[in-house]
Amino acid sequence: MNHQKIIQEVFSKVNTLESKGNLASYIPELANLNPDKFGVHISTTSSIKYGLGDYKEKFSIQSIAKVLSLCLAFKTFDGNIWERVDVEPSGTAFNSLVQLESDNGIPRNPFINAGAMVICDILISNLKNPKEDLLAFIKSLSANNDINYSAKIAASEKSVGYRNVALCNFIKSFGNIKNDPNEVLDFYFDLCSLELSCEHLSDLFLFLANNGKTPHNNKQILTKAQSQRVNALMQTCGFYDESGEFAFKVGLAGKSGVGGGIIAILPNEYSIVVWSPKLNEKGNSYKGMKFLENFTTLTEQSLF
Ligand code: GLU
Repeated sequence: MNHQKIIQEVFSKVNTLESKGNLASYIPELANLNPDKFGVHISTTSSIKYGLGDYKEKFSIQSIAKVLSLCLAFKTFDGNIWERVDVEPSGTAFNSLVQLESDNGIPRNPFINAGAMVICDILISNLKNPKEDLLAFIKSLSANNDINYSAKIAASEKSVGYRNVALCNFIKSFGNIKNDPNEVLDFYFDLCSLELSCEHLSDLFLFLANNGKTPHNNKQILTKAQSQRVNALMQTCGFYDESGEFAFKVGLAGKSGVGGGIIAILPNEYSIVVWSPKLNEKGNSYKGMKFLENFTTLTEQSLF
């Protein structure tokens, strides 16, 4: 399979499309992004790496980071995560409060904001230095150590984070947040502020295409069964209220973030990242979705 040739073809095609959608301007720092940025990078289990466009530039990965916090909780927590967070698509927006009331404070899945906050709470309860430990965990996933939180993005989001504050306190009222909500929110905002390039992200997510093992040093990060479950969650819940459409049009396991990035995994084959900051009405990168739809149509490879 010549992924590079297909990436070149699809990149030129999507690059000429009118850049529809809007920046995630509800976070002031993200409103300053250059809307024309466009990058893609693939890392394969057979050690091919290939990128085009702005694939070396760091961007705010936002909710993509929720997959990494889930993996760390899966790896380190010996209790049952799934008693505190469900594994169902929510069919609502990422920051919705409505289902929590009828679901007694159990978020539908770990990728909506509510679920990611419960995962942050679990990490705070179980790690000595959650922020440092999470960074160390992410660093261990690839050979590249150049990863950090962005104080600027975290502060920007915090300054307008009224809905996230409401979500966290609401879950606390049901007893499903054990720590101080301010501490949980602080960790959550830092988690969402991580900045990485397409190249770096596709490299460090490759373990999920490799049955839980990092290809650069053969470390078993998650068991094969855990890695399959994380992929299953990405496939069913990774795109807010557009997860069904992503399965239908793209057919990969994936996760998007409001910074305009998308990570997608084809188990045993590759991990691919696309970044273009303008978002469609469901909050997913407009060009990123178009790119991946065309890419899997031409490669004829998908989960199905
Ligand atoms: N930090 C963002 C928020 O809480 C994450 C949204 C996302 O990327 O889905 O609003």
